[in-house]
Amino acid sequence: MSSTAAVNLHDYIRDIPDFPKPGIVFKDISPLLADGEAFSASVSELACLIPQGTDVIVGIEARGFIFGAALAAQLGIGFVPVRKPGKLPGEVHSIEYELEYGIDVLEIHRDALSEGHKIVIVDDLLATGGTARATVDLVRQLGAEVAACLFVIELGFLGGRDLLNDVPIHALVSY
Ligand code: AMP
Repeated sequence: MSSTAAVNLHDYIRDIPDFPKPGIVFKDISPLLADGEAFSASVSELACLIPQGTDVIVGIEARGFIFGAALAAQLGIGFVPVRKPGKLPGEVHSIEYELEYGIDVLEIHRDALSEGHKIVIVDDLLATGGTARATVDLVRQLGAEVAACLFVIELGFLGGRDLLNDVPIHALVSY
């Protein structure tokens, strides 16, 4: 296996036009996940961005689980999933947030986090920022400290950072 320093992650992200609906250009990370060197490089790059003292990674369903869980395992710290409604079996804390058309909900196990936890939120992609914003608020409502939000991809032209101006944000690849 060669050095991961040579991996250009852009080469492993493909555009799928009009998915999941007309007008959306979906950033597909399947090629990145399918390549051992590229996937490993992306997780290592995320690991370099973790603030000292972080004790839990919070991953956002669904692709945030892939990177978040790999990252947590590499760091030897815990992983907590934030899920779509009705998926978590225990007692949940929920948050509603606005989409372009309508409202969505995210949930976390109530006993997953509490005061004293220092967490980092991980998702594959930052678009408008609504999903990450809701996750920051959800986690804070349980008393945990959000040390950073990490993304593999940022769609900078959608301005998601503006919605997250009270949290350090990092992305590995920007468009
Ligand atoms: P947003 O709340 O607008 O920042 O959207 C972020 C969430 O939607 C992430 O969980 C992404 O996986 C997904 N997402 C939004 N836009 C795209 C896109 N163009 N390509 C792939 N995933 C996207």
